[in-house]
Amino acid sequence: MKHVILVWRCKGKNCGQSHLAKYLGEKEKIEEGVIIRLHAKGDAVLIRCPKCGEQHLYGPNELRSLEMPSPPPDGYKEIL
Ligand SMILES: [Zn+2]
Repeated sequence: MKHVILVWRCKGKNCGQSHLAKYLGEKEKIEEGVIIRLHAKGDAVLIRCPKCGEQHLYGPNELRSLEMPSPPPDGYKEIL
């Protein structure tokens, strides 16, 4: 079972940290169109990266979906 998350890739140089924007759930159960709607709505979000310390604006059109083998760990925080 694959789990889908939406992330922003840190814009810091050579950082590569992923910021968890939203956990969408198991791939097979995701409602059709939900990813497109998430991409289309919302303002840019200012995020400070815990890894490199740089702060950047991230827009909905910069979201990327990733498939993970397991859900995010307990206590994870979504940005959206
Ligand atoms: Zn970073």
